[in-house]
Amino acid sequence: MNDLLLAKSIFLICVFLSLFSAERIARAAKPPEARVRLLRNFGLWIIVALASPLIVAPLTALGANHIVWERNPELTVGLIGLAVLVIDLVVLDLWTYWLHRAYHRVPLMWRLHEVHHRDEFLDTTSAVRFHLGEVVLSALLRLIPVTLLATPLTTVIVFETVLLASALFHHSNIKLPRALERALSYFIVTPSIHWVHHHAIRADTDSNYSSILSVWDRLFASRSATVRTSDMKIGAEGVEDLSFIGLLLAPMVRKDP
Ligand SMILES: [Zn+2]
Repeated sequence: MNDLLLAKSIFLICVFLSLFSAERIARAAKPPEARVRLLRNFGLWIIVALASPLIVAPLTALGANHIVWERNPELTVGLIGLAVLVIDLVVLDLWTYWLHRAYHRVPLMWRLHEVHHRDEFLDTTSAVRFHLGEVVLSALLRLIPVTLLATPLTTVIVFETVLLASALFHHSNIKLPRALERALSYFIVTPSIHWVHHHAIRADTDSNYSSILSVWDRLFASRSATVRTSDMKIGAEGVEDLSFIGLLLAPMVRKDP
């Protein structure tokens, strides 16, 4: 298990560094001059990274160790094992889609998720900009599918790895060849899809919820018709970004209109 967690960390660091470098070579939109935004995003990520081994990882392990039924061990070997793994990953992605919709629809959950949406530009650092409260709540709620489906802990770790790699990619400020991005967007969430989710127009913010596979938005009629432009205003409608401390406190002090 420790080998898998180490492999996860090394893989994600490689993905982050590759995309972080690539978006400085071929960028889709001009980044803001001020570097303070990067400090805010990294600051939130460091809190999550420090707290994660203490809270999120034990929660994940707890769920995987308290499954309500045992899977047949034969379901983990050979081609059947691979097929079951793919099905598990797709189910967890579907769960993440609906959880993301809930973060936008439930006012108390939006207070947490709005910290992510207040970012006024998008790049790879946006993918790690989440309030610790949202990360913990998401890990808690993921116990529901994990315990009901007896999802193996290794599968959950693989899913978390793919999810974060996907988030790094679809938040990134990379300029991809139009034909390539269009082809990819039929299968996975690309920057052009996810940037519209961060458009500072509420109707667009409440669309394009998919995280890995792009099919969910088409299937559940939440795909926006808005086409991404390099100068579209990014953020949460009607509010501005906050200081680092302000972002930490925002879910507790903000009053709903
Ligand atoms: Zn969102």
